[in-house]
Amino acid sequence: MPEVQDQAEILLNYKGLANESIDYQIAYDTISQYFKDLAAIKPNLKETSILTTGGIIVFSTNKNLQGKYQPLGSTTTYFTSEKNNFKPTFYTSPITGKTGITFATPILEESGSRIGVISITLDLKEVDNLIRERTGLGESGETYLVGRLERKNSFIVSNRADTEKYPEGISSLGIDTATEGQNGAGLYLNYDGVPVIGVYRWLEQQNLALLAEISQQEAFAPAQQLARNILLIGLSSAGLLLIGVYLLSRRITQPIRKITDAAIQLAVGDLNHKAPVLSQDEIGILARAFNQMAEQLRDSFTALEKNNQELEIRVKERTAELVTAKETAEIANKTKGKFIANMSHELRTPLNAILGYAKILQRDDDLRPKQIEGLTIIKQSGTHLLTLINDILDFSKIEASKMEIYPTDLHFPTFLEGVVGIIHMRAIEKKILFNHELGYNLPTSIRGDGKRLRQVLLNLLNNAVKFTPQGKVTLRVSVIDNVDALFATSLPEKNVTIRFEVIDTGVGISSSELDKIFQAFEQVGDTEQRSGGTGLGLAISKQLVELMGGQLKVESELGKGSNFWFELTLDVVETASEAEHDISGKVLNYKGKQRRILVVDDQPENRLLLLNMLEPLGFEVVTAENGQQGVTIATEYRPDLILTDLFMPVQTGFTMVTVLREMPAINDVPIIALSASAFSVVMAETQRIGCDAFLSKPIEEEELLALLEQYLQLEWVYQ
Ligand code: ADP
Repeated sequence: MPEVQDQAEILLNYKGLANESIDYQIAYDTISQYFKDLAAIKPNLKETSILTTGGIIVFSTNKNLQGKYQPLGSTTTYFTSEKNNFKPTFYTSPITGKTGITFATPILEESGSRIGVISITLDLKEVDNLIRERTGLGESGETYLVGRLERKNSFIVSNRADTEKYPEGISSLGIDTATEGQNGAGLYLNYDGVPVIGVYRWLEQQNLALLAEISQQEAFAPAQQLARNILLIGLSSAGLLLIGVYLLSRRITQPIRKITDAAIQLAVGDLNHKAPVLSQDEIGILARAFNQMAEQLRDSFTALEKNNQELEIRVKERTAELVTAKETAEIANKTKGKFIANMSHELRTPLNAILGYAKILQRDDDLRPKQIEGLTIIKQSGTHLLTLINDILDFSKIEASKMEIYPTDLHFPTFLEGVVGIIHMRAIEKKILFNHELGYNLPTSIRGDGKRLRQVLLNLLNNAVKFTPQGKVTLRVSVIDNVDALFATSLPEKNVTIRFEVIDTGVGISSSELDKIFQAFEQVGDTEQRSGGTGLGLAISKQLVELMGGQLKVESELGKGSNFWFELTLDVVETASEAEHDISGKVLNYKGKQRRILVVDDQPENRLLLLNMLEPLGFEVVTAENGQQGVTIATEYRPDLILTDLFMPVQTGFTMVTVLREMPAINDVPIIALSASAFSVVMAETQRIGCDAFLSKPIEEEELLALLEQYLQLEWVYQ
C-alpha cells in the first residue's frame, strides 16, 4: 500500500530523535492510525511492527517493543515475492513463553532494494477460541491444534497456561499419527492418559495437526445409558411377559384344574360333582364332555344300584324259597326214612312168625313131599321178602348218609367159612361149580364189620351164582400187601390189604351196561334172569365197600363172565374168639337140668313162636305181655334167661330191663333183646341199659340157639 510504503520509508530513514521531526511524527501517527484501524477489523493481529533491515523495531503497535531488536530467523514465516508456497512456522515466544506465529514481508524501495520489514504476530488464542467455540463435543470434548515446535509437539494455543506441564512435548496415538501426516480416528489414551475417542487430521497447508477428542466415559455414556435402558426395558418386558404368561396359564390351567378336581371327586365316588365350564374353547368342550360322562356314570350307577337291589330282593326271595324247599325236602326225607324204618319193623313182625313157623313145621318128620315143598316156598318167599326189606332199609340209610360201619374183632377163617358154606349150598342147588381159593397167608384175626363184609360178599356171590347158568363161580381171597405185617411181633400197629374177588363164567355184562349196574334199581341183561332181585344189591355193596375204605370194581365180557373185586386194608388183631357158633345139624335137646326162659312180647304170635321153638327143645317157657308183667313174673319165677321185645304197651322192654338190673336177685340173669327195629340207636340203647345180646327179628333159629348155648352154657344133643 503506497501510503504505508511512504510513511514506513520516513520512519525507517529517520535517524534523529523521533519526536523532533514533524515528518516523522506525521508518518508515525499515520501508520499508527492505520494499524489501529486494521486491528479493529482484524482482532487477531496481536502486534504489528516495522523493523529495520538490522532488525530494530522502529514502530510497533506494542509500544514496549519499539527500539528493541527482533531477530527474524527460523521462527518467522517470511513472505517474499518469489516464495509463494510456504508453511507457517510456530514458535515459543522467549518473552511470554507462549506459542506464536509471526509473518513478515520486506518493505522495498522503488528501486527494489529492501529498506525494512513489516512483521505481524498473530494472537493464536483467537484461533483456539474459534476451534473451541465450534466443538459441540460436550463436557469433556476438546479440539486442539498441535504443531511441531523445536522438534517436539506442542499445543498451538497462545494462552494455555499448562504448556509447561509438558516440557517434553505432548504425545498420544492421535497426536503422533497426525503429526506424521496421517488422518484417522480411534480409541486411545490422550496426552493426559485419559481414554478418549479421537479424530485427527493433518492440515498440510497449516502445518498443524487438528485433533478432536471426547472422553470415552462421556462418549459412551449415552450408549451405557442406552444399554441400561435396554436392560431395564428388557427386564420389565420379561417381568410383564412372566405376569402375562402366568395369567394366561392360569386362564388355561384353571379350567383344567377344575376338571381334574371333578375327576378326583368322581373317582372317590362323588358323582354329583360337576366340572365348571369356564371357557368356550377346547377345555370348555372337555369340561362339558366330562360332565356328560359323569352324568352317564351316575345314570349307570343308579341303574346298577337298582338292578342290584332287585337282584338282592330276588336272591333273598329265592333263598327263602330254597330254604323252604330244603326244609320241606329234609322233612320229606326224614319222613321217608322214618316211614321205611317203621314199615320194615311192621313187616318184620309178621315175617318173624311166617319164617319161624315154616322152620318149626319143617321139623315135623311126618311131612308129605307136597307139604315140604310148600314150606320151602313159604321160607324162600319169606326170605326174599326179608332181603327186600333189608335192602330198602340199607339203601335209605345210605341215601340219608346214616349208614355206619361197626368194626369188631373177627375170626377171619370162620367168617369166610360161613360165607363159603352158604354159597356152596346154592351152587349145589344150581348144579354149578363153586371154588374158593383162600390165600395161605390170610390173617387169622382181623378187625372189620363182619355183617357188612358178609353182606357184600354174599351179594356178589349170589349174583354170580344167579347169572351163571353153567360153569363155575370162584371166591378168591388173597393178601396183596403188607405180608410182613402177618409175621410182625407187635400186631396192633399192623394192617393188611386183602383182595376179595368173585369170578364167574356166567352171562357177563355188556360194556355199555357196566356203568348202570351200580345204580339203584338197575337191572340189566336178559329179562328172564332178573327175577329174584331188587336191583339194589350192587348199589348198596358199592357204598358199603367205599364206607369200609375200598372200591368195588368190575370187569365183564358178555357171554364169558364177570369179575367183581375190591380191596380192603384191615387191621390185624390178636386172635379173636370163634364167635360164630356153628349149629350144624338138627338139635333135639340139651344136656343137664331143665332151664327156665321168660319170653316178654306184646304180640301173641311172637310169644307163641318162641314157645313153639323152645319148648320142644326141653326149655320151660313162661311168657309176659309187657314189661310190667315181665318184672312180676321174673321176680316170681326166677328165670335162667330172659328174651324180651322192646316196644310194648304199658311198659317197654327198656324200662323193664332197667328195673330188673336194679333188683339184686335178678340182676345177673342174661337178657337178650329182640327187635324188628331197624334203628342202630335201639341196639346201642339195649347195650347201655344192660342187655347181654341183641337179636333182630325175624329170629334166625341158629342165631338164637347159638346165643342160648353161650349164655346158658348148654351142650346140645343133636339128632
Ligand atoms: P339184583 O341182583 O337184585 O338184580 P344187583 O344190584 O345185585 O341187583 O345187580 C344189578 C344187575 O347187575 C343185575 O340185575 C344184573 O343184570 C347185573 N349183574 C350183577 N352181577 C352180575 C353177574 N355176576 N353176571 C352178570 N350180570 C350181573
